Amino acid sequence: MQGVGFRPFIYNLARRYDLTGEVFNDSRGVQITVQGIPASIESFENDIRIKSPPQSRITALETDIIDEQTSYTDFRIDVSAAGGDKSTAISPDLNVCPDCLRELFDPKDRRYLYPFINCTNCGPRYTIIRDIPYDRPKTTMASFQMCSRCQQEYDDPANRRFHAQPNACPVCGPQLSLYSSDRELIGKGGDAQKNRGLFKVLAEHFEAGRIVAIKGIGGFHLACDATNEKAVAALRQRKYRQDKPFAVMFPDLNTIRDFCRINPAEIELLQSVARPIVLLRKSESRDVAYSAAPNNHYLGAMLPYTPLHYLIFRFWKRPLIMTSGNVSDEPIVYRNEELFDRLSSIADYFLVHDRMIHIRCDDSVTRIWESKPYILRRSRGYVPQELTIDRRFRRQVLACGPEQKNTFTLAKDRTVYISQHIGDLENYEVLKALEEGVTHFRSLFDLNPEIIAYDLHPDYLSTKYALDYQDENRDVRKIGIQHHHAHAVSCMIENGLNHPVIALVLDGTGYGEDGTIWGGEFLIAEYNRYHRMGHLKTVAMPGAGAAIKNPWQMAVAFLYQVFADDLLEFEIPLLKAIPKESVQLILQLINSQQSLPITSSCGRLFDAVAALCGLRYKVNYEGQAAVEFEQSIQKISDDSYDFYTSAEDSGIILNWDRMLKQVVADIEQRIPIGEIAVRFHNGLAGGLLKVAVAIRNQTDINDVVLSGGVFMNIYLLSRLKKLLENKGFYVYTHSVVPCNDGGISLGQAVIADGIDQRQQ
Ligand code: ZN
Ligand code: ZN
Ligand code: FE
Repeated sequence: MQGVGFRPFIYNLARRYDLTGEVFNDSRGVQITVQGIPASIESFENDIRIKSPPQSRITALETDIIDEQTSYTDFRIDVSAAGGDKSTAISPDLNVCPDCLRELFDPKDRRYLYPFINCTNCGPRYTIIRDIPYDRPKTTMASFQMCSRCQQEYDDPANRRFHAQPNACPVCGPQLSLYSSDRELIGKGGDAQKNRGLFKVLAEHFEAGRIVAIKGIGGFHLACDATNEKAVAALRQRKYRQDKPFAVMFPDLNTIRDFCRINPAEIELLQSVARPIVLLRKSESRDVAYSAAPNNHYLGAMLPYTPLHYLIFRFWKRPLIMTSGNVSDEPIVYRNEELFDRLSSIADYFLVHDRMIHIRCDDSVTRIWESKPYILRRSRGYVPQELTIDRRFRRQVLACGPEQKNTFTLAKDRTVYISQHIGDLENYEVLKALEEGVTHFRSLFDLNPEIIAYDLHPDYLSTKYALDYQDENRDVRKIGIQHHHAHAVSCMIENGLNHPVIALVLDGTGYGEDGTIWGGEFLIAEYNRYHRMGHLKTVAMPGAGAAIKNPWQMAVAFLYQVFADDLLEFEIPLLKAIPKESVQLILQLINSQQSLPITSSCGRLFDAVAALCGLRYKVNYEGQAAVEFEQSIQKISDDSYDFYTSAEDSGIILNWDRMLKQVVADIEQRIPIGEIAVRFHNGLAGGLLKVAVAIRNQTDINDVVLSGGVFMNIYLLSRLKKLLENKGFYVYTHSVVPCNDGGISLGQAVIADGIDQRQQ
């Protein structure tokens, strides 16, 4: 992998064992030639296995004895040779390493309190690379001329900073500046004393409840004291973000323990080199400000990952909100030039520096499920690490992804590159981020796709981007992919399943091939085809966007299908909370001759039941009702509602009418929401089990994949997996690739290649 301290490590090792030879990178990876006595070579090889630097992943180590004519007189690192090979992997951005941290806080070190300290084992990579080969002139460090001491380190093969491209020091490298929101420079970094002064001022601003925009690795964060309710509430108001949880950065692990319950797997993930946000259960005893994650039992927590973060927490000891620097749904701000225009209505102060970010990259979001990572947003720290898969792409593919949680994927040979989180493609700014991302990836990996995959939904901006895509040097073939097929295959490829499987795909919205909106789909899936075996019973949506934002409208739609006008007589909180005229309007809409969208969406079913219980009538972020409904579960039981299957023309239908009657009865009996939630989740899992059994009876297929955004619901996921396994199914779930729409582009890429190969 480029940009990790592997070659200096090899160099020092060879010298220790008195070996001569050379080391260089080429398209096959790192090549090492050594000459010396056999016992030393053996120890050398052993040490490579056990002592290599933490960030270098050794996927395979092959040795060969060669008849070498050359007699080497020393050991050298050849940085020129094949350094220009474009296929050598580019490293993700790396968490600051222990050696650099030690120097950062050593008063005798020349980089004492210097926020841009790094070495070949750590520091920014992906976000500062403009082009390859990965070499300083092709990074955003090009404008900084190294001083003689930095240059010496850079040139010395035995040094930890040998060819560390972002190498810098207070004399020659980037510096901090602190601005007020009216663009006035109020402090500048420099030597240790100046930096100390700056961080002290910063701490005072946090203490006073101010909001500060801080330049990070892949963009700006908006930060404030996470324990100061007034500050956090102000941030919400200014950012136009009502309830969607903010991430919190904690000074250290011990402080996280004060606020969250945490297990060993979660600790490992928090401390991993990617330093993602990890969803942790809040402790009962102590909470950060209520507004950090309103109505939520979980908190997105992370540890510091840049020297700058560590310095902040040297002078400020409480957790900080660290949320993306943007206004509502826009992409994260990453350029100094756009900073004030876009964020001065939110931030009171701006902590800026002059190391440019070339490509934006949001923080990754993860959780632990069954002691393993369950990645919900794969971005900074993971991207652009390639996935090697058990399949060979015949032609290069670009898959443009869906609308929500967009990522794109480029694939060639046996390698796929999934992009960082691009965002929800609901405006021009995000579309531009997609275009820039594709251009960057194509040049980093020297890819020229001949196949373009896109979602069947004609209105998605990613679809339009795909259909407009042209390459003057080659013909490109464009292939539309069904959304839930893509979900299914993203899970199959992650688990190496290249044979027909049963796919239970549950999510909010996806364009169906029959003109309805799909989202509760039971498929037989392969890489190049799928068959829809059945689906959740459909319902008419009273409007599209409005019905998603107003779960109470979906509740009325579901109720109407079961009870018709009788629903108006029910003694349920929904009918007390929503004015009768509004309910009547929805009923009129459903009864009108207008053709309403029909959906089999499982997300909408969750919304409807959550609203029916009186839990949430309107949502202000995607999935909010479902998240709160799952979290309302307090006591686990085996009680469940009746979901049943029926065989109809369109296949196996999972019916919810009896379930709805039971829910209404329970509400009228004043059964607590938590118990209704358990019965609903258990009932749904039980119903899905019946579906899987029915499909197995027809097809003899015993492998089940679970995909789609609904499976961010851990209670449902765990329950269903257990039920299926008890009935002898092999169950495959996500881990590295998100189950939500962040994984769609991967599925699209594999399917497009599958279709292309089949038709060849
Ligand atoms: Zn380091
Ligand atoms: Zn220097
Ligand atoms: Fe989806």
